[in-house]
Amino acid sequence: GRARVLVSACLLGQKVRYDGGDKQLGDDLIARWGQEGRLVPFCPEVAGGLPTPRPPAEIAPATGRVIDSDGADVTDAFTAGAFLALDTARRMACRFALLTDGSPSCGSNFIYDGSFAGRKIPGAGITARLLRAHGVQVFGPAALSVLAEALAATDRH
Ligand code: SF4
Repeated sequence: GRARVLVSACLLGQKVRYDGGDKQLGDDLIARWGQEGRLVPFCPEVAGGLPTPRPPAEIAPATGRVIDSDGADVTDAFTAGAFLALDTARRMACRFALLTDGSPSCGSNFIYDGSFAGRKIPGAGITARLLRAHGVQVFGPAALSVLAEALAATDRH
């Protein structure tokens, strides 16, 4: 069968980001994977019970807690969303995930440094970490062609 991919819902144009917008990836590969039935859209923050729009949140490096720009600790909602993402990946047999980079949930290569000053640091969000810890291969939008190769290799087996 064709390998399936858990995808950040905002990459598919769903308006679920903190600011009420999306991060739609207008790429031919995405369109093709959608037609092939490979894509499983998911937003961990919405699944975890957060409203849209919502205040932006960042991971505080000293504690690992997720704090929003109003100072509220939203770690529980982010964690709940991450476990629901893992449940969905398992249920739908997704061995791969394509997640929005930079997000405190979905980031896979970089996140922000907790100061709300727009400073990027290497790291991963709560959902990306949990998926990886359970063997899901996580890719960011910059690695679409690498994901395409991984899917092709998996389909051949
Ligand atoms: Fe997109 Fe992930 Fe943020 Fe949801 S949690 S809006 S899917 S980056």
